[in-house]
Formats: sequence, structure tokens, C-alpha cells
Amino acid sequence: MTAARHVAVGTGDDALPTATEGGSVAEWTDRYTHAVMDTFGPPQRVLVRGEGAWVWDADGRRYLDLLGGIAVNALGHAHPTLTAAISAQLGTLGHVSNFFASPTQVALAERLLAIAGAPAGSRVFFSNSGTEANEAAVKLTRRHSAGSRPRLLALEGAFHGRSMGALALTHKAAYREPFEPLPPGVEFLPFGDTDALEAAFATDGEKVAALFLEPVQGEAGVRTLPPGYLALARRLTEQNGALLVLDEVQSGMGRTGRWFAFQHPHIGGGVVPDVVTVAKGLGGGFPVGALIAFGEHAAACLGRGQHGTTFGGNPVAAAAALATMGVIERDGLLAHVRELGEWWRAALASTGNPLVGTVRGEGLLIAVELTAPVAAVVAARALEAGFIVNPCTPTTLRLAPPYVLTREQAGSFVDFLAGVPAT
Ligand code: PLP
Repeated sequence: MTAARHVAVGTGDDALPTATEGGSVAEWTDRYTHAVMDTFGPPQRVLVRGEGAWVWDADGRRYLDLLGGIAVNALGHAHPTLTAAISAQLGTLGHVSNFFASPTQVALAERLLAIAGAPAGSRVFFSNSGTEANEAAVKLTRRHSAGSRPRLLALEGAFHGRSMGALALTHKAAYREPFEPLPPGVEFLPFGDTDALEAAFATDGEKVAALFLEPVQGEAGVRTLPPGYLALARRLTEQNGALLVLDEVQSGMGRTGRWFAFQHPHIGGGVVPDVVTVAKGLGGGFPVGALIAFGEHAAACLGRGQHGTTFGGNPVAAAAALATMGVIERDGLLAHVRELGEWWRAALASTGNPLVGTVRGEGLLIAVELTAPVAAVVAARALEAGFIVNPCTPTTLRLAPPYVLTREQAGSFVDFLAGVPAT
């Protein structure tokens, strides 16, 4: 019997039969491949529990989670405050339909409006994921100017999700092409190119419904919009009556060391967007997303009956988000993310390993650019050595760890990177 057989992965109720006890990584992987659709490929490991920045697999091996469920586990794993908040809410009121409201839902909406600095008249729509928040944003922008604006602008490298509307705004051909025809009207502009942005508005600017931007592109390899770009985007959208939608699904909720990436002076320069979408870190691991509509016009674009979702605004999800935000604030994690991120980027860039090129990013959303297209090989070696990282492009390793990561833990990956060979 392995150590993993002793961990609690069942129901916790001895009277209930469960199919989740015991099993090695190999056994679970075999069961996975026969039961779960093959959209993600074979799992790298089967994980059974976590604590802080650590996770353990079904064979009892421990890993430092430097990916955080892809920028999700803001507080790490099994955080006691988050666990208690979710349990308490579930034991009090677990779900109500959107014919009703709950105090947690209302409080979360108010909290999101406050941290976003949203003006009077702003409103929140709740979803269950980033994709759904963006899908709501697509629908909202279709209703802007009563649907008389067919053009939607997005950037090359953009990732906004996989539902049909969000997918239409996602740039990667391999994601899009098998599902065409997608909703029409989307144009992709070269990343960070201010001339191309001006040109896109120079002709038929009044036909643009919205410009969708990630202040820091995540999936494309952690690329921050160049200084001034967002300010220009705001000016051009305003002049042409178009909406500015910021997808902060990956970069929001403290990931970059501020609640939202657009709030960094060197990224946003004080812009006030029309819409911001969030998810991932919002619930600290509990599925929840949100669309924040800034000001009365954006908030009124989706009227009664024009959008909805059964689970959006679920009291448990809202309690999870409130607890996550509460811990981030109470424990000073925004400052920690900024300080640790800055130290870590400098340390990662000075390993002396010729395989390591530039290191970029904001806060704890970091890319290590390799000098050869071996990111997948390095990530596999890292896993063997007990580190979870993500090769998001052939040359890029992405790091998006829990905000509770310590300097010592971060440093252990620097030591690994210093010695990793290219093959
Ligand atoms: N938008 C951005 C910027 C993302 O990074 C992602 C996911 O990686 C999404 C949207 C989609 O979010 P979800 O996977 O929660 O649907």
C-alpha cells in the first residue's frame, strides 16, 4: 500500500461507497484514459492532495506547484480560510436560482466594483468561468449601439476562451479552424502595434463595437502590452464610440501584484475601461467568473432576459471569492506578489545557464524564455525534479504559482534552472 492510499480522496462518509480510494498514478491514468474524453491528452500525473504551494500525486510524490492550476490557486491548496468559508456557505445556503439573490453574491459584486474603481452606475454579471465571462462580454458588445456595429477587434496571440463567441476572438488557428464558421466580424491586429491600431479605426471606426485586449497576454507567453498602448486604445475607442473590453481572466485578481493589471501605471496609465472580465484567481480554485461593466451605458447593454446562467452568482462561489479576496488583503499578498515576482525574475535571469534567455512578466505571472525550442523537455525534467511549470510556447516556460509562495520555494526552482541541460 502506498502512502497515497491514506489520503482523503473519498466522500469522507464511511457509509457511502466510493470509487476514489487507493490506486497508483499508473492505475488512475489508465482509468482516466478509458473514462475521460481525450481533449487534454494524457495527464502528466494524478494528484490527490495539496497544501500551500505543494501538491502530492497518487504515488505519494511531492511537487512544488509553480503553475497554480494555471493562475488559479491564488491562496495555494487547502487554505483553511477558503475551506472554512466554502464549507460554511454550503452548510447554510448552497444554491439559489437567479430568481433570488444572496448576501454573498451582492457583497461580492460590491467588492469587485470597489477594487476595480468602477464609477457610479457600474454593475457586475456573474459567470462560472473566464470563457463565460468573455462570452457575456461578446454579447454585451453586440448590444452596444443597438447592434449597429459589426466589427470586433482583438490582438494576434489573444486567448479569450473556447465557446463560439470567445473562440471567435481567440487568435490561434488550431483552436479556431475546426469550428468555423464562427461568429463574424472579428479582426486581429498585430500585438502592441500602435500604427495598426490607429489604422483599424481610421476607416469605418464607427462600425467597431469593441476592442478586446488582455493587458498581459497569458497563453501567448506572458506578453505585456507596451506602455502607452492601452491609453491609445482608450482614446481611439472613445473617439469612435466603441467599447474597450479588458480580459483580466488570467492577469486579474492580484496575479500581477495589483488587483488588475490595467491598474499598473506602466500598463494602464489610468485608463478606465468599459468592461473587465475576471475568473481564474477570483475564487481561489472554486469555479467563478465575472464581468464588470463600467458605467451606466455598459451596464445597461445587456437587459432583462438577454443573458443568464443557472450557476452564476452561486452563493458558495461568491463566498469563495470573498474569502480569497479577504485573505489577499489581510495577508498583504498584493505587495508580496510584487516583491517576490521582482526578486524571482531577477534571480531566474541570472542563473548563468545559457539555455535561459530573457525573463519577463508582472508579479507572479512570469515567462522564462529559453534560447532553444525545448520548453516541453525542460518542463518534463522539472516535473521529474518535483516542479510543476508550463511550456506555453516551444521556447517559453510559464510560471503562475500561488501568491503564498515563499522566497525559499521560488529559489529552489532557480537552482533547478541553473543546472538543467538542454536535452
Ligand atoms: N481569457 C484568458 C486571458 C485566459 O487566460 C483564459 C484561460 O486560460 C480564458 C479567458 C478562459 O478562461 P476559462 O478557462 O476559465 O474558461
